Amino acid sequence: MILPDPIGPRPDCAVAQVEIEPLSGNRLATPAETQPLKIAWGHAISIVAVHLLALLALLPWLFSWTGLILAIAGFFVYGLLGINLCYHRILTHRGVTLPKWLEHTFATLGVCCLQDSPARWVAVHRMHHQHSDEQSDPHTPLVHFLWSHIGWLFVEHRQHSRYFFYEHYARDILRDPFYLRFEKNLFWLWTYVIHAALYFLAGLAIGWWSTGEALAGVQFGASLLVWGVFVRTVVEWHNTWAVNSVTHLWGYRNYETGDDSRNHWLVALTAHGEGWHNNHHADQRSARHGHRWWEYDLTWLTIRLLEIVGLATHVARPRLAPVATAASRLVQPLLDLQAQSSAELEADRLSGKTPAL
Ligand SMILES: [Zn+2]
Ligand SMILES: [Zn+2]
Repeated sequence: MILPDPIGPRPDCAVAQVEIEPLSGNRLATPAETQPLKIAWGHAISIVAVHLLALLALLPWLFSWTGLILAIAGFFVYGLLGINLCYHRILTHRGVTLPKWLEHTFATLGVCCLQDSPARWVAVHRMHHQHSDEQSDPHTPLVHFLWSHIGWLFVEHRQHSRYFFYEHYARDILRDPFYLRFEKNLFWLWTYVIHAALYFLAGLAIGWWSTGEALAGVQFGASLLVWGVFVRTVVEWHNTWAVNSVTHLWGYRNYETGDDSRNHWLVALTAHGEGWHNNHHADQRSARHGHRWWEYDLTWLTIRLLEIVGLATHVARPRLAPVATAASRLVQPLLDLQAQSSAELEADRLSGKTPAL
């Protein structure tokens, strides 16, 4: 059984082979609810502060191989499992179901990416799907590339803090007390702060214990904090934001979706499959975003693994068949020839003829 689509496709979404089209020159104004523009101080301060803290990685004193390894591992543990798999494919689109304990664990990893609480992330993203590349889209690049990538986060959106916004777009999420708790007293933000402190304290303890020097402990703890938390957070931010900006501007399209979504290989690589964004807009429920065999989708491979071991159920597969590409059109005559000769052989077999050798 597949769960019902929490959003549903746009009515103008149709399956068709389309050529790469240049964007029209039409620009959009920022959403009406953002005008007149007012700075969202909470977001602005945290985004600037974490970027500055990540720049501390340029100091050799704050480098450690352990910190670097933790940063790289974190792209997969927090980014893939927390944001791409849980926030996006599970909570927003209900493309796959996990046991609640595992879903909540992955959601907590998502919270540790400092990309807003689960309910708010889901609500904003569902709003994006419902109004893709229209003025009401919270982050369309039809306003400006920088607006879609980062600018929208710096500006207050009057709807995003209102009750009916959550009621309309994330009621199912907030029915779960686990997710509701993150909304109270900025608990989602404190979760991030606490996990960052744990990185530092673990490094401090290990460094101090292994060398007997407090300063060495501070240095090691700070390296884990800067690399394992701040650098990882900033890189994951830009990976996610590139899906909003780059894949609505550049790349190819497999489907006519009524918006400007595109498939971009580099974003697919850095955001673990999320860059196949045109495929995703065409078939939002599908837990698999890479529709062609070469559209590498690490989040999907992770879902398959979870399905094989019995942890993932109700996995929504693509409803749409990928359309022909230039490469497949070259191969198609050979496939047709092979199919024709197979059919002739079968006809000969049925009529009792012996095929000529
Ligand atoms: Zn989506
Ligand atoms: Zn999109």
